[in-house]
Amino acid sequence: METLPNQFERRAVDGSKSRLVELEAELSQSHDNLGRLASQLDRVNQDLERLTNYDSLTGLANRALFYDQLTSFIALARRESHKLPLLVLDVNAFKDINDSLGHQAGDNVLKEVAKRISRVVRDSDTAARLGGNEFGIVLPTAVTIDGAIVVAQKVANAVEAPMQIDGHRLVLGVSIGISLYPDNGMDEKGVVSLALVAMEEAKRSGGGFVACAPDQSKAPASQVILAGDIRDAIDQNELILHYQPKVAMKDGRVIGAEALVRWNHPHQGLIYPDSFIPLVERTGLINSLTLTVLDMALAQARIWQDSGNPMSISVNLSSRALHDARLPEHISERLRFHNVPPEGLILEITETAIMIDADKAMEVVTSLSELGVDIAIDDFGTGYSSLAYLRRLPAREIKIDRSFVLNMHKNVDDKTIVRSVIDLAHNLGMKVVAEGVESREIYDLLKSMDCYCAQGYYISRPVDDEEFSCWLDDPVWEGQALSAAQTPAMAPAERT
Ligand code: C2E
Ligand code: CA
Ligand code: CA
Repeated sequence: METLPNQFERRAVDGSKSRLVELEAELSQSHDNLGRLASQLDRVNQDLERLTNYDSLTGLANRALFYDQLTSFIALARRESHKLPLLVLDVNAFKDINDSLGHQAGDNVLKEVAKRISRVVRDSDTAARLGGNEFGIVLPTAVTIDGAIVVAQKVANAVEAPMQIDGHRLVLGVSIGISLYPDNGMDEKGVVSLALVAMEEAKRSGGGFVACAPDQSKAPASQVILAGDIRDAIDQNELILHYQPKVAMKDGRVIGAEALVRWNHPHQGLIYPDSFIPLVERTGLINSLTLTVLDMALAQARIWQDSGNPMSISVNLSSRALHDARLPEHISERLRFHNVPPEGLILEITETAIMIDADKAMEVVTSLSELGVDIAIDDFGTGYSSLAYLRRLPAREIKIDRSFVLNMHKNVDDKTIVRSVIDLAHNLGMKVVAEGVESREIYDLLKSMDCYCAQGYYISRPVDDEEFSCWLDDPVWEGQALSAAQTPAMAPAERT
């Protein structure tokens, strides 16, 4: 039988209950405190991580995190057998900014530079302040030197755009060095030190960027030509043009000339483009070179037009020039300045340059052809362009690479290739220029294949403006073409 609890027992139960309520309240407060403590701990941890991994001034990764990331990206690149580009950059004349405007302004410049770098690079890239006015960027998704050069150009454009600092309008210059794992170093120290060497080289040449050569694994002490020399060559008008005629095969008329750059070096004499264009292409100087050549070529075209020899002038564009977004604008401005109609200019772009970045090439080539200038696909046959792509490209001319033309009279395969290219171009409504025409035999063969235009030593070697003008007055090759002569025309020998 159940007995009722006596008074004493009831009090004890009530006491226990209220104690339980108290304990529950204490427990929930402890929970709250614990939660607060945990989030405080989180914040401390975050601060600690920021302090150890991030630069307090700019908020970018610091040197330690940069090297950590670089090490892991190199390990990944090694496992997956791909390349990893690295950029190191510094702000030119930063000391002058500090000295003249004070350290606060200097700090604000660094913050602004960091902000601009962050806007240009992708989230997957690591941008860091390595110390002082030096920054580093690892580009795990840009696996080629070309990709890295595009980013370098974007970073340079962003940082060099005018900025407003403490009431002053500043226009900074940057020097960027580019290196690539594993071409320029097998570990983080190796690639960083080569990027620094390239950056110093860019600085000596007055800014812009310099990429290490693919086989460069130490300082380029043995490199004969440095970027700085090229800048001097451009500034001191040491670049000159030689011209090589293009003749229409149906009547032998001179319809144009190709402008070919040479460096008239004060001590070494004439230096040919193969010796310096590859270096210039690895620097931002390629844009100045292109514009210098364009200017000289258009000035010459004007002279020939005024003297009763209207003909087109062909200028070579390197693959890097295609990445200069302002190229169409510059070209249009130079055409107006020299009063040369757009159809008087042909821009030669190699098939390989077009295929390196087909979308970009399509965009630039389209805007160039909208100006009214003609586009020629140079060195055709050496790249891997597809027929479908060619059809969409607004190019009017195909230049068959000289390697197919030189021996086409002896080599059946070469002859077949040349014939097919001519047929293909005709089907696409394009004109064919054969380069490397060294003999009457080749000339006649091409003519029988209905080739539109010929260029080569048989007609004339490239010569300077004066010799070209004399040759125009008396183009001796035509007489030779009509005789049975097999030897190249007697235009002044250029290169032996
Ligand atoms: P390219 O565009 O294929 O130019 C034609 C080259 O073939 C020229 O060499 C010319 O001298 C040579 N050539 C012409 N006819 C014959 C021939 O019958 N037989 C042989 N064996 N060769 C012939 P060059 O002047 O040394 O130029 C070499 C390359 O340098 C050019 O090849 C072009 O890619 C580049 N280049 C020249 N000028 C410029 C320039 O202003 N800008 C850029 N980006 N590249 C240039
Ligand atoms: Ca060419
Ligand atoms: Ca060519």
